[in-house]
Amino acid sequence: MKEIILIKNGELALKGLNRSSFESVLVKNIRRRFRYLGRVEIKCMQSTMTIEPMSEDFDMQEAIDILKRVFGIAAFQRAAAVEKDMDIILKTAPEYLREQLELAETFKVEAKRSDKKFPLTSPEISRAVGEAVLKKFHHLKVDVHNPDLTVTVEIRDRNAFIRGNQIKGAGGMPVGTGGKACLLISGGIDSPVAAWMMSKRGVVLDAVHFASPPYTSPQSEQKVHDLLRQVSKYSGDIALYTVGFTKIQELIRDNCEEEYFTLVMRRFMMRIANKIAEKSDCSALVTGESLGQVASQTMPALACTDSVSDIPVLRPLVAMDKEEIIGVSRKIGTFDISIRPFEDCCTVFTPRHPRTNPKKEQLDEAERSLDIEALVNEAVENVKFELIR
Ligand code: ATP
Ligand code: MG
Repeated sequence: MKEIILIKNGELALKGLNRSSFESVLVKNIRRRFRYLGRVEIKCMQSTMTIEPMSEDFDMQEAIDILKRVFGIAAFQRAAAVEKDMDIILKTAPEYLREQLELAETFKVEAKRSDKKFPLTSPEISRAVGEAVLKKFHHLKVDVHNPDLTVTVEIRDRNAFIRGNQIKGAGGMPVGTGGKACLLISGGIDSPVAAWMMSKRGVVLDAVHFASPPYTSPQSEQKVHDLLRQVSKYSGDIALYTVGFTKIQELIRDNCEEEYFTLVMRRFMMRIANKIAEKSDCSALVTGESLGQVASQTMPALACTDSVSDIPVLRPLVAMDKEEIIGVSRKIGTFDISIRPFEDCCTVFTPRHPRTNPKKEQLDEAERSLDIEALVNEAVENVKFELIR
């Protein structure tokens, strides 16, 4: 028996996008994520996409786990592909779905026949398979309205497919259909969640991290790596640019009014990220900011940071509570990494009384003694690049 994976068109998130380009991006993403599993054949026929392993030692369970994290798929199924022979179908169905049948209390059989030359009609197939199942699993009852398990038998051109219940997919849009953006990643809880959310909308991500050694430790950079590696299980590979931020932070500390430290620093981050975004073809920035969470995230403060960015700053968490954000971070596996106790550059020179109602002009004034352009250019020239995969 050969096992394959089936994805129905209705289970793809085809929102207004050209179907074939959507599908081709999705297929490319699946191939890339399956690269260590061995060769697969992926076919898109009418309303169905099939993924067929081409090697004997293909790890189907691993493939399923990977597929659950591929955006653009709302649901999918594993299926047995067998010969179009009723004896084989009747023997295979109860065996192949054993685990699911044991767990269910009620079931029904649904037969679909796209090959009209097949000798039995759909109701005849359903009845025969239902009887074969009941013969092996005495505890089961038929419920055609609300069954725990639906056994589907589909007679296609070349094979018959036998499948059980659907597996929930990650939803969203295939990464690559939503443009490219540059994520500002700290080591905190929020920015990895922001990354996952944008990636779910089909956005390809690059990432920028600002490190201030020796105030920040190598462990905090490792933490950023580990966070991105976890995010990349959903988003695919991420290009990481690490920016040395020590000199700028020290200059801010020594030359700016303390109440503006954080915002001046955030504006430098924006300017540097803008330059990196321009070089790497990103058309927006993404941050993990959430309205009112801290002093630098009030509406006037966000306006001050936005005013130095030439491209849109996307803040997917803007209206989320910390509790909701934590819930997502647990779900996507970044929470335990985020709570490792290493300093972020933001926390190094935190002002005692940050301004919550700043004006853009006040910030321009606070920054006046700094040679902004030279500092930004120097930071961009010395950026460190790595590919996180
Ligand atoms: P997080 O949990 O993501 O650290 P936070 O609530 O601690 O967020 P801040 O530290 O004020 O908030 O940072 C807000 C946002 O600014 C972060 O979500 C991130 O997008 C960006 N940011 C903060 N520090 C850094 C850094 N060292 N490098 C890159 N981006 C950063
Ligand atoms: Mg932070």
